[in-house]
Amino acid sequence: MFDVTVVGAGASGLVTAIVSARRGKKVVILEKNHKIGKKLLATGNGKCNITNQRPTLERFYSQNPKFIKEVFEGYSFQSVRQFFKSIGLELIEAKEGKVFPMSLQASSVVELLVCECEQLGVKIICEAEVSKTSFSEGKFVVSYNHTQIESKKLVLATGHCSAPQLGGVMDGIEFARSFGHSIVKDFPTLVQLTAPYKESYLKQLSGVKVQSRVTLPFKGKEIVKQGDVLFTNYGLSGLAILDISRFVMQELLSKKSIMLIIDLMPKMSHEQLLALMKKSLTKKSQKPLEVWLQGFINKKLIKPILEPLKLENETVGSIYSNIECLEQIVQKIKYFEFKIDGSKGYKGAEVATGGVNTKEVDARTMESQKQKGLYVVGEVLDVDGDRGGFNLHLAWVCGLRAGASF
Ligand SMILES: Cc1cc2nc3c(=O)[nH]c(=O)nc-3n(C[C@H](O)[C@H](O)[C@H](O)COP(=O)(O)OP(=O)(O)OC[C@H]3O[C@@H](n4cnc5c(N)ncnc54)[C@H](O)[C@@H]3O)c2cc1C
Repeated sequence: MFDVTVVGAGASGLVTAIVSARRGKKVVILEKNHKIGKKLLATGNGKCNITNQRPTLERFYSQNPKFIKEVFEGYSFQSVRQFFKSIGLELIEAKEGKVFPMSLQASSVVELLVCECEQLGVKIICEAEVSKTSFSEGKFVVSYNHTQIESKKLVLATGHCSAPQLGGVMDGIEFARSFGHSIVKDFPTLVQLTAPYKESYLKQLSGVKVQSRVTLPFKGKEIVKQGDVLFTNYGLSGLAILDISRFVMQELLSKKSIMLIIDLMPKMSHEQLLALMKKSLTKKSQKPLEVWLQGFINKKLIKPILEPLKLENETVGSIYSNIECLEQIVQKIKYFEFKIDGSKGYKGAEVATGGVNTKEVDARTMESQKQKGLYVVGEVLDVDGDRGGFNLHLAWVCGLRAGASF
């Protein structure tokens, strides 16, 4: 009999296994994929944004914020750095507090974690898809591929259903439910957003990438994210969109659609842009507005700016004396509205919100309050974080806590 069975050889499962094996436990990890770390290898575009130097509480979300506070108490960025140092992985810092492996390769994170498991005698079984977990007569019984193994402790480190193409499933949620846990409803986050516009309108904009400021009216406030926005044939992508997607998806739980406001020129104020454009107007110019605007903005954006203002057939000369028209153009550039009605779903999402209710899990040990000896770690829990290394940070810290508590 094993001391510990870990289901899932992802971020949180591997760390849990290492920390408990270091404490002398006999550990087995069951992984359904044929190789380890499929999702980890895809993180940070293959570079793995492994953690963040400033994992402050407002970067994480859960229906039970108290849990987040308690999980991170005493476990900082330095704790994560120290752990990786202990397996021989050096980290480097980048912009916005993001942290990467010094090699800038996600594969080195996976290889060093696996090597440490092997050196500690952790048994890793791949292509072992767990179908059932139960507790009887003082031990856990885990079934996979017509085989059963028994252990004193069971760790659910199965992640959530984001990126199914990389192995994302709901299995851990169902296992937790079978032990009596309640589940917080999920929705995809850090995901591309879809728009209800005609195909021709989207096609016209498709491929345009702009440094923007994106605003969403949200519960009487405004959520603002800055970064690139990519117009696509289905809607919007780009870092600013991934960043705002959690709030958009939350709004879409109760609304059919929402309006994003995109400032297409965030580096200039309304007044600065107006002054710049005004200077380039000449009284007698017959230059069409759509040609003149190319001096300022991506050509594909011009029709969607001019058409709603009914200015598509005007010339520079005709708006020279009509400053209101120029005001309207500037306003449209600084306040470009774009309707959103959904997302690309879990296939496009980096993370799932929701999961095992954190009111039923001890934040110090990750032990279930429904079943003694059961531990729940990582994305399977109802906690998710912003883009920037926060989701992996959570997975590592859960693993450090659970592994140290057996
Ligand atoms: C494309 C992409 C890029 C990302 N980039 C980043 C980034 O740069 N930084 C960051 O912080 N976060 C990033 N994330 C999010 C991050 O990868 C996850 O939050 C993190 O991996 C969750 O860790 P976990 O241990 O909970 O689950 P996972 O790492 O998903 O591991 C769960 C494991 O359990 C296995 N499993 C599931 N069910 C079973 C079963 N029944 N039997 C056996 N095994 C099972 C799965 O195959 C998987 O290997 C990214 C996500 C994606 C999809």
